[in-house]
Amino acid sequence: MTFATLGLIEPLLRALETLGYQTPTPVQAQAIPAVLAGRDLMAAAQTGTGKTAGFALPLLQLLTLEGPKVAANSARALILCPTRELAEQVHASVAEYAQHLPLTTYAVYGGVSINPQMMKLRKGVDILVATPGRLIDLFRQNALKLNQLQTLVLDEADRMLDLGFSEELANIYRMLPKKRQTLLFSATFSDDIRLLAGQMLNDPLSIEVSPRNVAAKTVKQWVVPVDKKRKPELFVHLMRKGRWKQVLVFAKTRNGVDALVDKLQGLGINADGIHGDKPQATRQRALDRFKASDVQILVATDVAARGLDIEDLPLVVNFDLPIVAEDYIHRIGRTGRAGNTGEAISLVCADEVNMLSAIEMLTRQTLTRKMEPDFEPEHRVPDTDASGQVVKKPKKPKKPKASGGGGKRNLGKWVDSGEVAPAEPSIKPVRKVPVFNTGPRKKK
Ligand code: AMP
Repeated sequence: MTFATLGLIEPLLRALETLGYQTPTPVQAQAIPAVLAGRDLMAAAQTGTGKTAGFALPLLQLLTLEGPKVAANSARALILCPTRELAEQVHASVAEYAQHLPLTTYAVYGGVSINPQMMKLRKGVDILVATPGRLIDLFRQNALKLNQLQTLVLDEADRMLDLGFSEELANIYRMLPKKRQTLLFSATFSDDIRLLAGQMLNDPLSIEVSPRNVAAKTVKQWVVPVDKKRKPELFVHLMRKGRWKQVLVFAKTRNGVDALVDKLQGLGINADGIHGDKPQATRQRALDRFKASDVQILVATDVAARGLDIEDLPLVVNFDLPIVAEDYIHRIGRTGRAGNTGEAISLVCADEVNMLSAIEMLTRQTLTRKMEPDFEPEHRVPDTDASGQVVKKPKKPKKPKASGGGGKRNLGKWVDSGEVAPAEPSIKPVRKVPVFNTGPRKKK
């Protein structure tokens, strides 16, 4: 199969040739004809599958061949993305695909001044890539009208809900024309996503290019149990032992990112960090330097790293496990792309056992544990498996119950009590259900 047989027009084929795309990826092979035929789409596809071209190519073609010229302060197609980085990245791809077409493209997101964005929108743009919050700001300030909108793309919809954008999406939904084409892309399909799809899509074609909620098979994954306080030391040890060259490291919090970067830099290791507290320009610079191999270790939070297209990354390290199990799939999706093998190593301490269990249940696999000599944890990480059970430790003789529950924080509950820990409540994100079909909303 070629892009020409999918029915793409010559200016797009020429752009693809320049980019060196020879064969459509599975998501492209399915999405391109469906979008060209005007269908709504509900696609399960992770970053790295070629999903951006899957929606952008047919979208560009439809906009070129159909519809009126874009009016002032209007957009004909809107691509919603969860983060600034992803918006920039998607926009860069769209602009590349559109290089021989008479279409205008632009990206808007928060964290930078709104005025230049308002100026730019005056003439209207054919394709607008946006993060939800900034889009709403622009709409409310009358810098953008959506009555000319033909197509809406929700990129990484699961992530938008995880980041708490359900209310923004509901607001945007009310701003849209009823008659439009809608394409929804999501790496995972939770009930909330299905609810959103039910509201936003009209008789969608479902596309699934990788098994649902199953992490890429080409990624070798394992876990190193360790005590929490020894994680930085273990990381440095593994890095030196494995002669790691370029590693993307995930930490749970912004402080965690900063602390690890400081520690690594203190040891003369070339490391940088990205998280939501850093200005956009600083984040972009760190990312560019990492991509250019000027930075060896990039430490990131999930939000900052979401959707980043870093190719051929050999190794991803989870310094902390993600609170949301689906993020594990997103994280390790940075490696093992396009048939390359990759490795994903998770440093797991005892109080992350419920997260580990949730990840194993979601990915339907029991992750191999490799104990690192001299780093065996004092606080044992209870056994887990893909059934979601945290396997209890052999019971110690029962101690008399102490009054007041002083004891060790967290540990007692699932290590000593002999109970099977409830995996769900502590890991599942508290997501607001999209509000499209609910009654009057309470003010925050
Ligand atoms: P995406 O999943 O959209 O983030 O794309 C992942 C990477 O694959 C990007 O670097 C794209 O440029 C690249 N890519 C997408 N489609 C193709 C294709 N058909 N052939 C080669 N590379 C592609």
